[in-house]
Amino acid sequence: MHSILVYHTISSPAEPLPGDIDISPEKFDRQLRWLSSWHRVVTLDETLGSDSRARGVAITFDDGFRDNLTVALPLLEKFRLPITLFVAAGLVGQDNYLSADELREIARHPLVTIGAHGLWHRHFTRLSNDEARLELRESRSLLKNITGRKIDLMAWPYGECDAGLERLSEECGYRAAWSVWKGTNSTYSRWRVPLGRRDNMARFIAKVSGAYLPTKFLEQKLARIRSGDKTLECADLSVL
Ligand SMILES: [Zn+2]
Repeated sequence: MHSILVYHTISSPAEPLPGDIDISPEKFDRQLRWLSSWHRVVTLDETLGSDSRARGVAITFDDGFRDNLTVALPLLEKFRLPITLFVAAGLVGQDNYLSADELREIARHPLVTIGAHGLWHRHFTRLSNDEARLELRESRSLLKNITGRKIDLMAWPYGECDAGLERLSEECGYRAAWSVWKGTNSTYSRWRVPLGRRDNMARFIAKVSGAYLPTKFLEQKLARIRSGDKTLECADLSVL
């Protein structure tokens, strides 16, 4: 099993950003140093291979914050670690986010793959089928127009998806999609591990190794097992 990490912004705002999504450059630097010493860091594409015994760590970023280019990329270059950057296409050019020129620049970097992250960063599980389809298609085409790259990977905003959305993303031409501990943990809802300012080094190491899952998540799974829920997937059980 691979570990897929998800970062957002590498910055030190005075107040924590909602959703525990900021990590200081110093902490990020320490985490990358540790990863490059102790793990095989691979591209996201490599984690799609069929070898279930393969063990690597892939790094992803969501949303498209400007500091991904100005702060994170120089640190990633220092350790030569690849990332996939899932960009919310409608946020391009807004305050604190990459401009179209900056997105073009980061997309050309050999360590960077660009993926989609919806158009307006909405909760997909609350959208109608038509709205979801529009977001999936338009975000892909906007990013392709800006970067000139093929866009066929995506991450669900807020990590949220369900079986219907997984099918829809396949229908819309994506090759794979990632959630955050939601969905079936298969091709269109692969699980990722979120990281934020609350993660000290011990918790970071536990998260990378797969030993850490949120208490709430485990409680839900245990409750389902105790109630004899027959709908649990193999993937649900393998994490316990
Ligand atoms: Zn996001």
